[in-house]
Amino acid sequence: MAATPPPIETEALIIGAGPAGLFLAFQLGLQEVACHLVDVLPEPGGQCAALYPDKPIYDLPGLPVCSGRELAERLLQQLRPFNPPLHLGQLVSSVQRQPDGRWLVRSNGQNNGPNNIQAWLAPTVFIAAGVGAFVPRKETLPELEPFEHRTPAQVCYHDLPPEAALATAKHIVVHGGDAAAVELALELAQESAQHATHSRITLLHRSERLQIEPPLQAALDRALAAQTLQLVLGQPVGLVCGADADPAGAALQALLLDTPGGGQATLPCDLLLPRLGLSPKLGPLADWGLALQRKLLPVDSATMATAEPGLYAVGDINHYPGKRKLIVCAFHEATLAAFAAAAQLRPGQRQLLQYTTTSPRLQQLLGVGGVGGR
Ligand SMILES: Cc1cc2nc3c(=O)[nH]c(=O)nc-3n(C[C@H](O)[C@H](O)[C@H](O)COP(=O)(O)OP(=O)(O)OC[C@H]3O[C@@H](n4cnc5c(N)ncnc54)[C@H](O)[C@@H]3O)c2cc1C
Repeated sequence: MAATPPPIETEALIIGAGPAGLFLAFQLGLQEVACHLVDVLPEPGGQCAALYPDKPIYDLPGLPVCSGRELAERLLQQLRPFNPPLHLGQLVSSVQRQPDGRWLVRSNGQNNGPNNIQAWLAPTVFIAAGVGAFVPRKETLPELEPFEHRTPAQVCYHDLPPEAALATAKHIVVHGGDAAAVELALELAQESAQHATHSRITLLHRSERLQIEPPLQAALDRALAAQTLQLVLGQPVGLVCGADADPAGAALQALLLDTPGGGQATLPCDLLLPRLGLSPKLGPLADWGLALQRKLLPVDSATMATAEPGLYAVGDINHYPGKRKLIVCAFHEATLAAFAAAAQLRPGQRQLLQYTTTSPRLQQLLGVGGVGGR
């Protein structure tokens, strides 16, 4: 088991890099509070980037229309002057108060490797966890689970396996029907054709109806016509494994499928890449010992402080009278929480309200020059 590295000490830790967490990091930057961000997803942006990247949002102030992906990109661009460390692929598993009043936060990496476990120690922690941690939807066949933990793994939900394992796989199956699944299958098919790896790439989906836009459908049709990729319709219902003296070591060789016509088929498979979408899991948050009310964290609406000193909650995860789960509300909450945290961290220091338009100090922080700067 990997040893836990010493915790990273910081003034503030934000759990969740959705719109609430990203804008909070910006507001903390304006307050000159150093922060780190952590999210279980491989990309920042929360629900906007993970659930509706190409759908339009029409109710952001001053932005008549903006896609989920574009909002995430704009928030990151705005945050760039402060450049806070962003720890992705890390599922926060515990938040514990320490004798000195700070919070020890631990996370587990979702990909195997040296950075598997991380820890932070901070006087202020912001829970911006939305509707929960987004984790990949699992295959329904429990027999597949042991193949996730092999070395090399034969079932990979997150990243791809190491290059060498990918190169030796002869039958790679991408299971799913959305854009992420189709894009991955096309990418692997192209790689296989370019590098002549002789891997057979299959896109497996339960029906012919894929949840993809016309340009991606056209790219898929071209690959199917060129036979660099095959589309197989069916649902895995069983496995075929090789013979091994130790049954626990037997390799995955094929999937048994129920096909849409009511028949059965065998699909050779020595590497399965399930891409079945994401589902939010409150799980870890519910285990942190916090007083959740109907899966939400009650806060003081003036500061977004929870009942625990130094612990704040912003965005979809919090609740107060009049709460609305909207991005614009999350931005307001992030601003108030940053002011409150600055007051907590610098007691006795006067808090001035300054405008980015006119404040030389804020403009210097933003790297946009002096008064009147762009
Ligand atoms: C289809 C759809 C359309 C929408 N359209 C609009 C709209 O038009 N206008 C609008 O205002 N709102 C809209 N919303 C709602 C909006 O997306 C949410 O209000 C907003 O995303 C909330 O932001 P957040 O940062 O609080 O949470 P999220 O966006 O959910 O981000 C939370 C992040 O925290 C991470 N996280 C949670 N737990 C952990 C953990 N234990 N460890 C590590 N990371 C963790 C998650 O992985 C996630 O990335 C829409 C929502 C959906 C689903």
